[in-house]
Amino acid sequence: MNLFNRYSIIYKTPAEIEIMREAAQIVSRTLGILASEIKPGVTPLHLDKIAEEYIRSQNAIPGFLGLYDFPNTLCVSINEQVVHGIPTKRQLKEGDIISVDCGALFEGFYGDHAYTFEVGEVTPEVKKLLEVTKECLEIGIQQTNTSNRIGDIGFAIQQHAEKHGYGVVRDLVGHGLGRTMHEEPQVPNYGRRGSGKKIQNGLTIAIEPMINMGTEQVVQLDDKWTIVTADGLPSAHFEHDVAVVNGKPEVLSTFKYIEEALAKK
Ligand code: MG
Ligand code: MG
Repeated sequence: MNLFNRYSIIYKTPAEIEIMREAAQIVSRTLGILASEIKPGVTPLHLDKIAEEYIRSQNAIPGFLGLYDFPNTLCVSINEQVVHGIPTKRQLKEGDIISVDCGALFEGFYGDHAYTFEVGEVTPEVKKLLEVTKECLEIGIQQTNTSNRIGDIGFAIQQHAEKHGYGVVRDLVGHGLGRTMHEEPQVPNYGRRGSGKKIQNGLTIAIEPMINMGTEQVVQLDDKWTIVTADGLPSAHFEHDVAVVNGKPEVLSTFKYIEEALAKK
């Protein structure tokens, strides 16, 4: 499925970037609220309801609900599920990890970001996967400057993930973000140094490494949404919205609210 309905990059004005920051921050605060809710026994559908109510209370609209006919506000992907999991009544268990991906449409612009949470205590191997995937995101963000090309982002992410023996998902990629959820350019988490379009001021993208503990191969489930690892090993996913301003990356979303909530747990 080609999710990209634009064929050239739409660079944003400073005023548009400010609205996008608002949209991203609504998602950030939503994830912060969910961070305190996530524990064994809780269901993804419960999280979905909280997220939808909060987003609507902020004069925004859930960004995923109805998009390509997706049925919910959140994509919740547990353990070997990589992305696009549909929230269900399946109770979270001690030791699970869940990627919560959330979108919000605010004043005509989308925010789209994600975090992989630990449910109770997870194994050291899983903790490491989460840490490295978060590092991949940071490393990708650092590459998002006007000295570079789009391919430099994926190159750096891939190097870091593969150094740890992890698989970098190829079938799904980051993307331009703006008045539509998926715009040009595609932002793969793999690639060749110096390849792709030159990065320019006003570029707004969602960078979202999806890193598997084992094989990079993924499979789509019969629900036509959920993507799982082909070997059943866990997968992690972290996403930020990034704008290029004065040659440098500016992260529009934040993990601040999540980190504050987790510190209180
Ligand atoms: Mg997302
Ligand atoms: Mg995205």
